[in-house]
Amino acid sequence: MQYCNQCGCQMDDAATVCPNCGGTVHSRAANPTPHFDSTSQTDGNGYASAAITLGVIGCIFAWFSVRIGLAVGGVGLFMALISAYKRAKYKWPAILVSLAALVCAAVNSLIGGAF
Ligand SMILES: [Zn+2]
Repeated sequence: MQYCNQCGCQMDDAATVCPNCGGTVHSRAANPTPHFDSTSQTDGNGYASAAITLGVIGCIFAWFSVRIGLAVGGVGLFMALISAYKRAKYKWPAILVSLAALVCAAVNSLIGGAF
């Protein structure tokens, strides 16, 4: 059962015109609102959140192994740059956290941490 957009009366699912007021029917399923821009931005945000996750992991593991910190931070930075290319909302936090992981690895290397 669907309802008229104009007057709210009940009407048959197969009906395309309201029997009460004559208004046209737009069922919710047949009325999607695609926004290509927001879809691509969501795609970029996926890379950004992956980069932030990798950056945080890299910041922690960089203190145990310089090599892991560089690898995870490097992949995170790569993801962050993809998210920046896709104009993600959180590209800057992603880039900064990934860089922080690389800085942690560099500092750990300087203080003689395990490579
Ligand atoms: Zn109606």
